[in-house]
Amino acid sequence: MSFYFDVIKTQGNARAGVLHTLHGAIETPVFAPVGTQATVKTVPPRDLEDMGARLVLANTYHLHLRPGDELVRDLGGLHRFMAWPHPVLTDSGGFQVFSLAQISRIDDDGVTFRSHIDGSLHRLTPESSMQIQENLGADIIMCFDQCANPTDRAILETSVARTNAWAVRCREAHPDDTQQALFGIVQGGIYEDLRGQSAAFLQTLDFPGYAIGGLAVGETKEQMCRTLDFTLPILPDDKPRYLMGVGEPDDLAQAILRGVDIFDCVMPTRVARHGAALTPDGRINMRNLQHARDENPVDETCDCYCCRRFTRAYIRHLLKAEEILGYYLLSVHNIRFLIKHVQAMRAAIVGGDLSEYVNAFLQRYLQLA
Ligand SMILES: [Zn+2]
Repeated sequence: MSFYFDVIKTQGNARAGVLHTLHGAIETPVFAPVGTQATVKTVPPRDLEDMGARLVLANTYHLHLRPGDELVRDLGGLHRFMAWPHPVLTDSGGFQVFSLAQISRIDDDGVTFRSHIDGSLHRLTPESSMQIQENLGADIIMCFDQCANPTDRAILETSVARTNAWAVRCREAHPDDTQQALFGIVQGGIYEDLRGQSAAFLQTLDFPGYAIGGLAVGETKEQMCRTLDFTLPILPDDKPRYLMGVGEPDDLAQAILRGVDIFDCVMPTRVARHGAALTPDGRINMRNLQHARDENPVDETCDCYCCRRFTRAYIRHLLKAEEILGYYLLSVHNIRFLIKHVQAMRAAIVGGDLSEYVNAFLQRYLQLA
């Protein structure tokens, strides 16, 4: 079997594992940088490898519209197209359709929408999402789901029912996980009974992994933690669990503590382009005047190229001058910061001192007294 998951060590609910795919093994917990347009913005694959990145997410919606998934298929699939030989995950396109596109019709069969690029009309269904993701060729692909406001119960009830029905059609369209493993997505917002219905139904379809969708989209951190508290225990122990779109350092700590294995988030590269750096003492704005003559690295505890070679003063200058090198260096640092953070938690799970690590990290990162 080319896709399988081994749990190596547990501590409380947290797990250290290894996820095996056709394009290599991934140590979990793992943080996946996001390559929306088949590129992690400004960061070449060589640097991602150096930083220890092993899984990259690419967006189905964007690549379907441009350059087109059939073109990517004809050129050998995403790994070859983006020159990334390691594992790739694609989302289903659902999240972007509901957040970016102008929706003209949503019904039980699928969604008709206008492209945010040129206004052209497109239709996405569970079957077409599977076809597009098969063309793109990622190692992990996702069921087409309907994401909804996590606190709007009436809409969530429809979204869970629809996501369940669509999961059946995705499974029928993609019954074999040998080349590409199809994950189900648990919806239900912050409601325990809806998450329960969704998780129980999806498990009847026996997916090789399960994602928790519809979080980090406006609910409070307490609501997210509570939702993880009642959702993770009802997912199978021997399958990987993926928390979609979550990447804040404190959220990673809380979620790993509760048993999540896979994460993705655009945050590290998005905030880098706004001049923000992640540090053990919280997020800092590198454009601030206080860094103008500071010869220290962005983060003295970090081993990335940005922190080994450059001063805060120089990074600030690059950002003020809107030089691309500034966005690149901060993206490298922010991605490495999250990967190192997750690697440290994995080591702590194996070493048996995860809660000490998490408490010390949160104390300092959130500046709690
Ligand atoms: Zn760094």
